[in-house]
Amino acid sequence: MKTGMVNVDNLSTKEQGYTQAVDLLKSGEVVAFPTETVYGLGAVATDEAAVRKIFGAKGRPQDNPLIVHIGEVAELEAFTTNISSLAYVCIDAFWPGPLTLVLPLKEFSLAKNVTAGLDTVGVRIPEHPVALELLKRLKQPVAAPSANKSGKPSPTKAIHVWDDLNGKIPFIVDGGTTGIGLESTVLDFTTDIPTILRPGGVTKEMLEKVIGQVNESKFTDDVKAPRAPGMKYAHYAPNAPVYLIESSIEVVKNAVADIHKEHKKVALIASEQFGQTAADYFFSLGKENQLEDAAALLFDALRNCDGTDADIVLAPVFTKQDVGSAIMNRLEKAADGNYYE
Ligand code: AMP
Ligand code: MG
Repeated sequence: MKTGMVNVDNLSTKEQGYTQAVDLLKSGEVVAFPTETVYGLGAVATDEAAVRKIFGAKGRPQDNPLIVHIGEVAELEAFTTNISSLAYVCIDAFWPGPLTLVLPLKEFSLAKNVTAGLDTVGVRIPEHPVALELLKRLKQPVAAPSANKSGKPSPTKAIHVWDDLNGKIPFIVDGGTTGIGLESTVLDFTTDIPTILRPGGVTKEMLEKVIGQVNESKFTDDVKAPRAPGMKYAHYAPNAPVYLIESSIEVVKNAVADIHKEHKKVALIASEQFGQTAADYFFSLGKENQLEDAAALLFDALRNCDGTDADIVLAPVFTKQDVGSAIMNRLEKAADGNYYE
């Protein structure tokens, strides 16, 4: 399959880009498009055959549900029921935005493969102008996971989507670099106390200011029936193994020296203050303590490791406060929980 890519930030190709994307979606095809979190790979959420193509192109396990994207709150009614008043408070406060709400699914309203057979559905209104324009033109819910090959870091640039899915999907809407760079926060409203299933740009601290107590699931892999199947699978992994390491320049310098003694090459993914540690490759996550910048740069940095001959990737840990919680969640998955010893 030939993969088309059109830049919709360019006035001369904008109209063609949206028209082609909407036409393809309406005809049961998949289309990649930017959101404020990462690029998504979308299909009309009521079209089972179209949704099946998402799983096929990504190589995604069938029991991992997809997030449904809508352009207007009014569209919720078609496929959810019994939305609590607290959920509406969240909707008012954070939509459009990087917050996915897990709500009770209205029976027989969406294709079964969107929710992996669960009786709940994850849904959000994205804040990105391109995603919103697409959804408002289409006027149908779009199921869209991140537009990467399953297991790889999520795409924050159109070229990342191209690298992973060229030849496997018909079309990429290029809308530049995504803003936040990490996937949405997933908040489950089907538990007594709302529970964060996946940390993201909307932090626990931000949620609690608006709706009071919020629980956090442990994000472990040993949950037998994970509420968020994303917890269960390898994620965000470059080809070389990733190891977390103490956030100390001394400790990192010593580790680099040890790795060099074994005639191996090391890539370092870290904030700027780690720039002088003699690592063979250094991918900056921005200035020290600028968590939003680190979030935006993380997936590109992980992907850049694959363009090197590094044998090992080191990543100093971040604080788990605020967006640091989402950064560490992705890094722990990329490292499969391993620390450098
Ligand atoms: P992705 O967009 O590739 O990060 O994948 C979507 C993620 O959304 C899944 O891995 C789940 O963590 C979450 N999700 C989507 N729908 C549900 C649902 N009904 N219940 C729990 N989690 C969900
Ligand atoms: Mg994903």
